[in-house]
Amino acid sequence: MQQLTSNVFVETEARGCDFGFVTTSDGIVMIDSPHKPSTAMWLKAEIEKRGQLRYIINTEPHGDHWTGNAFFDAPVIAHEGVRTRILNTDMADHTARVGTFGPEEPALLEGYRPNAPVITFQDSMTLHVGDHTFEMVHMPGHTLYQASVSVKEEGVVFTSDNIFHKVQTWLHEANPDLWLDALESLRKLDEEIFVPGHGDVCDKGYLDEQGSFILEWKEYVRDAVDRGMSRDEAVASLTRLTDRYPMDVEQEGLAPMVMRISAANLYDYLTGDWPPPSMGAVATRLPDDR
Ligand SMILES: [Zn+2]
Repeated sequence: MQQLTSNVFVETEARGCDFGFVTTSDGIVMIDSPHKPSTAMWLKAEIEKRGQLRYIINTEPHGDHWTGNAFFDAPVIAHEGVRTRILNTDMADHTARVGTFGPEEPALLEGYRPNAPVITFQDSMTLHVGDHTFEMVHMPGHTLYQASVSVKEEGVVFTSDNIFHKVQTWLHEANPDLWLDALESLRKLDEEIFVPGHGDVCDKGYLDEQGSFILEWKEYVRDAVDRGMSRDEAVASLTRLTDRYPMDVEQEGLAPMVMRISAANLYDYLTGDWPPPSMGAVATRLPDDR
């Protein structure tokens, strides 16, 4: 893993989200968890070398951030909406999909039970562990339930998927206007080291590029709406923005699908039929859980 500061470790090259942990004077706090069970088992061994895991914090409701929670024995903290979404996930469906990620995964998924958040917040929460302070702030955008996690003493913030650093941005549940607001909230934080949801570690210098891509997407779909296209026509015709960035690790080939579900979501958003009830309750609407 990459050691970012004296106490912050992150992994940005595994399939799924960027996850990490912080070593404190009173044990370890993990932020997000691996998508692949085999990666979770590896991470568990890495953490055990350094101390006892005290808490897990999840930054958002997509399965690539919480599937691995189940392999750790620690209480999970997240936005209330993350808990609701996990509890409403069809686990048979979910584990069947994750089981396709590699030959070792199905055996590890036998008897799978999610370790859903048991401590939740709506707007913000502060957690003190040893000498460290963790500040969670609700920042809807990529989904309605994103949160940033600042590790105050380390100058590091885990941004969740409100930042995709130089990899394809998924907008399949996005509220683009709230997302742009979230980027401004990130800009105002004291922390200068950004652990994005996906891609390499970055800093505030990337915020403008992330924002302009979201705006470009929104305008692109708005143009289709303005030209009178139906939802299906718009989704079928919008293909241009897929090749700006590569897909994240082990997501090759998914770009056209990401494009379609992102365009469909933005079409709904711009024409007023948004959010669908599924965003509040059902996590399995989507073909992948990014
Ligand atoms: Zn996500």
